[in-house]
Amino acid sequence: MQNNIKKPFQVNLNLNVRGLEPSSTLAINERSRQLVKEGKEVFRLGLGQSPFPVPEEVVESLRRNAHQKEYLPVSGLPELRESISEFNVRMHKVDDRPEDILIGPGSKELIFLLQLVYYGDLIIPTPSWVSYAPQAQIIGRHVHWVPTQHSNDLRMSPDMLEEICRKDPDKPRIAILNYPANPTGVTYPIERLKRLAEVAAKYNVILVSDEIYGLMHHNNQHVSVARYYPEGTIISNGLSKWCGAGGWRLGFFSFPSGLRWLRDAMAIAASETFTTTSAPIQYAAVTAFNGGPFMDDYLTKVRKSLKTILKYIMVRFDILKITYPTPQGAFYIFPDFGFYREALMQRGITTSKELCTRLLEETGVAMLPGSDFGRDPGELSARIAYVDFDGREVLEGSGVLFNDEANHDYFVEKHCSKLVKAVERIGNWLQG
Ligand code: PMP
Ligand code: GLU
Repeated sequence: MQNNIKKPFQVNLNLNVRGLEPSSTLAINERSRQLVKEGKEVFRLGLGQSPFPVPEEVVESLRRNAHQKEYLPVSGLPELRESISEFNVRMHKVDDRPEDILIGPGSKELIFLLQLVYYGDLIIPTPSWVSYAPQAQIIGRHVHWVPTQHSNDLRMSPDMLEEICRKDPDKPRIAILNYPANPTGVTYPIERLKRLAEVAAKYNVILVSDEIYGLMHHNNQHVSVARYYPEGTIISNGLSKWCGAGGWRLGFFSFPSGLRWLRDAMAIAASETFTTTSAPIQYAAVTAFNGGPFMDDYLTKVRKSLKTILKYIMVRFDILKITYPTPQGAFYIFPDFGFYREALMQRGITTSKELCTRLLEETGVAMLPGSDFGRDPGELSARIAYVDFDGREVLEGSGVLFNDEANHDYFVEKHCSKLVKAVERIGNWLQG
């Protein structure tokens, strides 16, 4: 008689994904959610998600377009590509045409597809956002982590970029510049952008200018490196941060016209994978990218609120001797707890991972270890996403912030009580 008992599947994974763990940003979100479900008090400074609501005009546009059910062109809805190219011209004063745009379900997916389609090494500074390097690993690309210095606010220096490129000048490479940066909130001054552009141009490096936080520059002074290296810069952006719509999953790449072949190759890969981005979301995105007074008003309030909250945190960190590169945008700060090294060591904490695990267990404050962003595991750094507040309430109350007489500390204490408590807990825990 035949033996019908089937053997279990052999665990047979592609070598490139073996040992990979879920992305830490999403894992900390799940962990925080779980702890809340268990009844614990958790301060959610882990996932970098905009706390602000999607502007009502954009939500209304989505409602009006809920019936859109057809597959749209792979590269994206023509009307949306037009409005994005106008947005880019307005924002960056660079030449941009609808044919240069590729829309995808989040810029994360597009960054992945680019690395899949273009055969080259990846150059990123340490620290960098958690997903660039694992994407390269999944695809099997070599990652060059560029060392940075505190004296330079942990930014990629043109000299370091040159040093890497000079070793093998003809090697194809992609460098990702993300500014304002995740995880530091720091941006690049114009002179630095020009120098980086010069080096990239000299060695034909493709620059991905990840500007997902560009409109969240706290002083609205974001400048794209595409101005100085238009022929080699791909601008990456989307709705997730400045429009508060991370879960909607819409991002875009804007290519220089000389890289049309690359855009087309990515569109082919897109056609065989995600097909096209959700139709109702694309229609609603037209309203967001067209912008207007409603969006200007929203962004002005978002920037002012973030700047005020950041200042509140920085003042307290200074008192606690917690150091950090000074952020100019986004909703991140990247503190270093090195001042407490000895005391922490006595409590058995010698790595950023242990620091974050113990802080979460003992105080409920969730943040991500510096090592997740490519920092040395023994550096006691972490990323704080200062987003645990009700964004709608903050926006509604933010009017007072434009009055010089306003008490900004009072504003933060009134509307961001969880953040205030989290900062207090971090301080007590470090000193305890
Ligand atoms: N780049 C950076 C620096 C990010 O923080 C994120 C996270 N949202 C992304 C890209 C990807 O964004 P999305 O896929 O939501 O467009
Ligand atoms: N980019 C966000 C972060 O750094 C979260 C979303 C993601 O990682 O995909 O926390």
